[in-house]
Amino acid sequence: MTPAQEKVGVRIRDLRKHFPLPHGFLATLFSRRGGPTLRAVDGVDLAIAPGEIVGVAGESGSGKTTLGMTIVRLYEPTEGAIWFGEQDISHLQGEALKAFRREAQIVFQDPYGSLDPRLNIFDTVAESLRIHGIRNRGELTDRVSLSLQRVRLDPSRDFVRRFPHELSGGQRQRVAIARAIVLEPRFLVADEPVSMLDVSVRAGIIEILNGLSDSMGLTMLYISHDLSTIRYICHRTAIMYLGRIVEIGSTEDVIQDPQHPYTQALVAAVPVADPLYRRSRVELTGGIPSPIDAPQGCAFRERCPSAMRHCGDAEPMLRPVRNGRAVACFLYE
Ligand code: SF4
Repeated sequence: MTPAQEKVGVRIRDLRKHFPLPHGFLATLFSRRGGPTLRAVDGVDLAIAPGEIVGVAGESGSGKTTLGMTIVRLYEPTEGAIWFGEQDISHLQGEALKAFRREAQIVFQDPYGSLDPRLNIFDTVAESLRIHGIRNRGELTDRVSLSLQRVRLDPSRDFVRRFPHELSGGQRQRVAIARAIVLEPRFLVADEPVSMLDVSVRAGIIEILNGLSDSMGLTMLYISHDLSTIRYICHRTAIMYLGRIVEIGSTEDVIQDPQHPYTQALVAAVPVADPLYRRSRVELTGGIPSPIDAPQGCAFRERCPSAMRHCGDAEPMLRPVRNGRAVACFLYE
């Protein structure tokens, strides 16, 4: 196995990813903020230390997948900045963007849809090596084998000639991870990597990701709606709501002692195995508002059990509370 490479940190500042919508009468009528725009990510600041695994949690529609895809530059940021180590990669194009793609990869949620059914496992994993100009058969074989071993598809010779439909869901997701790490990236976004898998194989995939972080020196953004898997793997956790981070801190602090009312509701919804355990229920009412038509002031106020009259006047900023924790809520100002 190759030695761990130099770890790299990732920082983003005031990152925004907005998707303009077609200008139609209805879209304009129903948008409270003027032009019809889907504000998927709407001002996120985040620093991930070299080698750190940071979790991002929130309901569907909170913007976490768009955040991950924008950081690895599958989307062009609308505003804000992204640094990969000391390099500003916010607006890279052409060869510079291609070089960055060797360093930053993403694993998607769906192990069924993310693999080309016409390619065997060797060609699936080797594809990105070929895209980056590596065509020597011996080198391709060595690197594909190493990647398959790293995700515990070992011995690799038992898998390279097989096709995705011959593998289980867990094995397919291991192939997707092998494909993501074959270029020896230093930053990985794992977007709900176990949510479509059987509960019995989830722990194995999470252990693999955790092990890769150590053995390859990977810095990681782990996106999930499931706080129990986040708790298992992430050093710190950010809670997103409608395109913004509303709470961030060490994973244990955020889950054991949530401060933001939205975090409290997410934590309260996590199933607990002990039938005698009773905890205060903070239940979420209604659904997450449309990112095209976010409420004025605190975006959570229409669902917040602690909402105060002035919560609609302005957006609460993410402010330090204690022990590295920051919360965006007027209860803490
Ligand atoms: Fe609730 Fe107000 Fe805090 Fe928003 S700012 S989470 S509405 S208490």
